[in-house]
Amino acid sequence: MLSKPGESLKVLHSRPFAYKKSTDVRPVLCYYAYRARDLMNCTVASFYEISDGQLTPQQLRAKREFIAVFERHAKRQTKNLHATDLYNVMNKLMELLDTFFFFGSVTHLVHWLVLTVFPPWDLKLGLCEELATKIIPKFDISIHRKRGSRLATLAELVDTLLHEMTHTFLMAFTCCCPKCLRNDHNALSQGTTGHGPTFCGLSYAAMRCLGQWNPALDEVFMDRSGGTYIDGPSLANQLRIAEETRQKDRSEGKNMLPYIKNPSPRLLIWNQEDKVIIDVERLRAHVKRTAMTPIDSAWITTSVLASGGSVHGSESNTRSSSPAME
Ligand SMILES: [Zn+2]
Ligand SMILES: [Zn+2]
Repeated sequence: MLSKPGESLKVLHSRPFAYKKSTDVRPVLCYYAYRARDLMNCTVASFYEISDGQLTPQQLRAKREFIAVFERHAKRQTKNLHATDLYNVMNKLMELLDTFFFFGSVTHLVHWLVLTVFPPWDLKLGLCEELATKIIPKFDISIHRKRGSRLATLAELVDTLLHEMTHTFLMAFTCCCPKCLRNDHNALSQGTTGHGPTFCGLSYAAMRCLGQWNPALDEVFMDRSGGTYIDGPSLANQLRIAEETRQKDRSEGKNMLPYIKNPSPRLLIWNQEDKVIIDVERLRAHVKRTAMTPIDSAWITTSVLASGGSVHGSESNTRSSSPAME
């Protein structure tokens, strides 16, 4: 009997990294290598509800510099900021957000950061587009400069920037094997809303954390998400859109898995109605047990480069996937 697409495949996914204060090394992530939920868990555990004393030195430097740069420029007249050095300010803030939240792995994948004005009928605030490249993924991030007829404040622009960086990070490093694609509705929902449970979990944690750095940022996050810190359609709408896509995919023979409405109690980060819940204690213990350390990372980079290979390859896959916790 023929198996369904993806079912007979034995893909060993790489173990993602977590920041470790004692080593203070930025890990080198492998492109398209991690299961979405593993990647989300390790990334969230690296910044969420961590006191300054427990951050890595480079995270702490990035946080302090972000706050200083943001406060300095948020005080300026918005019109003046837009007319002069907005592009430089946004690039600097992107680099600092990247170091703190995404292991410094996003900035070099951004081909262009475009500050633009979308046409009036377009309701988007930003856009993350993956470019057609051969080996290294590249993205253009576009940010709408306006809110209605007025210019966007720096806090509103940073809100959109963080959102699009979260898309970039997940698209660049999440596995695209047939098994993961079949499960896409339960992860990124890349083929439908783009805001599946994995996107929502990471985006929620990043907004909650960044909101604590400056009240103007928190206000924007709260306003835009109706107080939930969740981006995108409600769970009910996601379910409807995912089911419609699944039916269509089934008719095309793709066999997408059904959208899981009621999350398993074993999940460490999960969506419930319009809430994201993070079980911080279990998440930390899980990540401590399963994440790859930067020392492993240095080993992989050295051995792969010494053998003339690329960083994205099977080397890391031989180091076994994380236990099936979720
Ligand atoms: Zn996969
Ligand atoms: Zn989005």
